[in-house]
Amino acid sequence: MQQIITIDGPAGSGKSTTARLVAQALNWQYLDTGAMYRAIGLAMVRSGIDPTDEAAVCANLDRHTVDLGPGDPPVTLLNGEDVSGFIRTPDAAQASSQVAAIGCVREKLVAAQRRIGAERPCVLEGRDTGTVVFPDAGLKIYLDAPVRMRAERRLKDLGDNPGMSLDEMVREVEIRDERDRNRSVSPLGRAEDAVIVDTGGLTIEQQVERVLELARSRFGLDS
Ligand code: C5P
Repeated sequence: MQQIITIDGPAGSGKSTTARLVAQALNWQYLDTGAMYRAIGLAMVRSGIDPTDEAAVCANLDRHTVDLGPGDPPVTLLNGEDVSGFIRTPDAAQASSQVAAIGCVREKLVAAQRRIGAERPCVLEGRDTGTVVFPDAGLKIYLDAPVRMRAERRLKDLGDNPGMSLDEMVREVEIRDERDRNRSVSPLGRAEDAVIVDTGGLTIEQQVERVLELARSRFGLDS
């Protein structure tokens, strides 16, 4: 069985924290696939390219590399530069979901994700990690929560001065969800064999414990 855990779900469903802590507990590689789309979104914005312009994005794509750097969680490297801070802004978030709807971007990043996952046991999180990147993963999780709660979490992630109200964040999250669910390539969706975990009423510790229980029994682990 492939020693891969995929965690998919919409923005703010708790994927990143859950995946990171599960990977830490199992001592597996953690891979935030959204960070890779964010890095490409940022690369296009920095180059003055409209992230919705498919021809321009694809023509420019080969000039950029996205890698995992050192650290826990690993930093995101764009052309060797640590861009972990820059990719978290609302502008980079919107640009990421725009470039993520473009086929050439998905091909490049899915290939990179498969390479990383083949190197060692890995916990991946994103939108299509269980449906497209690793359809044969040993354990697939789909996290979800009500949109308002997800927007509150995203606002919290942005710190003391998020620069937008809760209502504005709800809208931002809704726009991104809609784009992610309705695009023609690799739309956000639940794999048929994914276990659904509704994080609405759960603490982070409970979410992590639930996934770890499933992982221990699925992979026969005792840690
Ligand atoms: O998870 P995060 O919010 O960081 O992802 C940023 C954007 O990257 C998402 O809105 C989505 O459009 C895109 N994404 C994707 N497929 C993935 C991970 C992220 O399309 N596997």
